[in-house]
Amino acid sequence: MNDCLFCKIAAGEIPATKVRETDRFLAFRDIDPQAPTHVLAIPRDHVASLNEASDAELIGSLVLFARDVAKEEGVADGGYRLVINTNAGAGQTVFHVHAHLLGGRPMRWPPG
Ligand code: 5GP
Ligand code: ZN
Repeated sequence: MNDCLFCKIAAGEIPATKVRETDRFLAFRDIDPQAPTHVLAIPRDHVASLNEASDAELIGSLVLFARDVAKEEGVADGGYRLVINTNAGAGQTVFHVHAHLLGGRPMRWPPG
């Protein structure tokens, strides 16, 4: 087993509040929410960041999976944001690719 936090959450070794799961993807609430809805969507397979991703179908399906979570969370109509922080300059701290789903409050632009 590698030392990746999100692999451990996907394997059930570290608890998380799951909101949706399939055989390939998992969505769970962020431990430090930045919006009323703040969910992380991950592939179960380890990919360190978007820079390492090569499977277009996987990444596309991850986005649609997060979109489905937005609908279930009731933020799809009002508006939401999907964010994939990539590498340190963008604030990535967990190196298992993940999409932040943020919603339930007005979003400013440009993001900080
Ligand atoms: P990043 O900064 O890499 O884009 O996002 C990592 C996210 O993971 C952060 O928003 C952080 O709050 C969240 N996070 C870190 N550790 C845990 C944890 O143990 N459980 C959950 N649910 N979220 C975590
Ligand atoms: Zn991982």
